[in-house]
Amino acid sequence: MSEYQIDTKCIHSGYTPGNGEPRVLPIVQSTTYTYESAGEMGALFDLEKSGFFYTRLGNPTLDAVEKKIADMEGGVGAMLTSSGQSASLISILNICPAGSHVVSSSAIYGGTFNLFNKTMREMGIEFTFVSPEATREEIDRAFQENTRCVFAESVSNPSLVVADLAMFADAAHAHGVPLIVDNTFPTPVNFRPFEVGADIVMHSTTKYMDGHAVQVGGVIVDSGNFDWNNGKFPMLTEPDESYHGVVYTERFGKAAYITKARTHLMRDLGAQAAPMNAFLLNLGLETLALRMERHCSNALAVARYLEQHEKVAWVNYPGLESSKYYALTQKYMPNGSCGVVSFGIRGGRDAAIRFMEGLKLASIVTHVADLRTCVLHPASTTHRQLNDEQLREAGASPDLIRFSVGIENPADILADVEQALAQV
Ligand SMILES: *Cc1c(COP(=O)(O)O)cnc(C)c1O
Repeated sequence: MSEYQIDTKCIHSGYTPGNGEPRVLPIVQSTTYTYESAGEMGALFDLEKSGFFYTRLGNPTLDAVEKKIADMEGGVGAMLTSSGQSASLISILNICPAGSHVVSSSAIYGGTFNLFNKTMREMGIEFTFVSPEATREEIDRAFQENTRCVFAESVSNPSLVVADLAMFADAAHAHGVPLIVDNTFPTPVNFRPFEVGADIVMHSTTKYMDGHAVQVGGVIVDSGNFDWNNGKFPMLTEPDESYHGVVYTERFGKAAYITKARTHLMRDLGAQAAPMNAFLLNLGLETLALRMERHCSNALAVARYLEQHEKVAWVNYPGLESSKYYALTQKYMPNGSCGVVSFGIRGGRDAAIRFMEGLKLASIVTHVADLRTCVLHPASTTHRQLNDEQLREAGASPDLIRFSVGIENPADILADVEQALAQV
């Protein structure tokens, strides 16, 4: 880990050009790499040497961005994936075979919920969902003998719940399993889950990390802190026959988990990021710290404005003093949480639609965490198949508007909100 501050890491970590080399991270658009001897390549295949041999398993452009994100989160290694979805899948599958069980917070992204509740259940992995506000006793009761990890979002999408991750980490460790955290919304600029005890972090890099809405991607980061030698993780502590009996914890030490994710699951599933996407992601990362600062100050201004408006029924933003997550947010992310504000307008579903259609600067899109202000009404779009009661259960009331505040001038964003509210 470098000694620099997070905003300097955003720019410099992962790639240090040598004399006469390109100043900007190059796009290595090559599937393969040449070697002078078959023996050398054989050693790479046997994991005896490190080096690039095929882009599904590693690529210099991806490698630099992986090193940057690992450094930003404070981990020992990272692996880019083709999407946030594949990062969620691989982060769990790496240590949870069929027949195992996962304790997950119920306040998670809808796509993650479907992945867990449908596809991974069909693969033979069981899930128990607990409230992100569960007490320690309630969390403890969710564990089973075959539980192999706990999963939670640091700031949930779209419900904006800030989970007490230190408590989730303690509970996980008391049961001998790691805590995996989806840290997409705050990004490592605002919050680093490893500092409160999380063991693995994953992201949808599609959101703030990229920030320009130009690539879909994901990443998994390993803290290197979890001790896998407790008998629950034979896939890491016993010989892997598909690599001539390598034992990951013996050969790779603290990087056992992330090395296995690559050499086993990326080898077999092929959900790797494209070099061009890694390059675009890196451009986004270079300005991430600056953008997060502006996203957060703009979002707080919007949340404060909405809170005092007579047509607004309720506002949820973790940075508002009125938020029930305010104290935890101040403790975990004193510099800000994210740029997303959710709120409801008096008049419910119809008023929400009139408000959204009245916006001029903000556009209606199925996306969040973009530098352009954008808005989504889950009840009439992403969640339109649900009735009002089902919507509430999913944490998205019929009147909920998810407002993703961009980095435009705050006066222009507020003026747009004001004129749209006047039309409701
Ligand atoms: C978008 C999102 C995902 C899924 O990521 P994709 O890049 O769309 O596959 C996972 N978690 C959170 C919190 C998200 O916002």
